[in-house]
Amino acid sequence: MDVYRLATLGLAGLRRPLDTLAGRWRPEERASEWALGLRFPHENLAGLDLGARVAFAAARAEALWHHGLVIGLTSGARSVVEQQQLFDEAVAEYGSESAAREWVLPPSESLHVQGRALDVRPREGARWLEIHGHRYGLYRTYANEWWHFEHWPQYIGTRSRPPMRADPRAPASLL
Ligand SMILES: [Zn+2]
Repeated sequence: MDVYRLATLGLAGLRRPLDTLAGRWRPEERASEWALGLRFPHENLAGLDLGARVAFAAARAEALWHHGLVIGLTSGARSVVEQQQLFDEAVAEYGSESAAREWVLPPSESLHVQGRALDVRPREGARWLEIHGHRYGLYRTYANEWWHFEHWPQYIGTRSRPPMRADPRAPASLL
């Protein structure tokens, strides 16, 4: 267990009894979001679809309290302008739109613009989410991006899941 994880658990542990005393709803989630905010001060959850945000908070509270894992968000919701900028940069870097699409989609197709995609860290946190995220409607959807998860609540409690695609270029219908 690394020092950040210990510190986060320690901070959340200090906070939890206070929240419980105050009778707040879901004190574990509240305490974990508070501790994670200290651990990842630049993390930005703003603009996420409400369902995706609630699902992510619940999932990472479970990861923290039951498995001692800290899961951070590196990139969540993006504006059309931000996504277009990322796409343009990728086109410049990879030489063509089709090559760029291996990593970044244009704004009209990106679930980041809809606030339903979350890029997480670190790798072990992503691995945890890959195993347990389905209970919260969170799924990894690209084989080439271990960090990219999407919120698909309609699959909760079903035996199916959104298709795992090779990369953002691959049409879902081919799999
Ligand atoms: Zn992503």
